[in-house]
Amino acid sequence: MGEFKKVSNVLLESNGIYFIECPGCKTLHPFHVDPKLKIRWDFNGDLEKPTFSPSLMVNQGHPSQCHSFVTDGKIQFLSDCHHGLAGQTVDLLEVEEF
Ligand SMILES: [Zn+2]
Repeated sequence: MGEFKKVSNVLLESNGIYFIECPGCKTLHPFHVDPKLKIRWDFNGDLEKPTFSPSLMVNQGHPSQCHSFVTDGKIQFLSDCHHGLAGQTVDLLEVEEF
């Protein structure tokens, strides 16, 4: 179990992995940014208005599927999300350290 550290209003960090709180799923989604990893995201380095690319797919094929782009501190949900915010773009949620 890692410890989560709040590094900005919208990002937690644990073991070099950034986490957002997804407004659609109400859970944390991870972004791996370590260049040594094969599967990782590009990060613009802006902790308050992060941009990660490419898109993030969570729980693919499951009832909780969530597919989004995080750009400039906002999260754009694609139409193949299974929650109520599919197709919408909203601000990232403020995270809480725990
Ligand atoms: Zn989500």
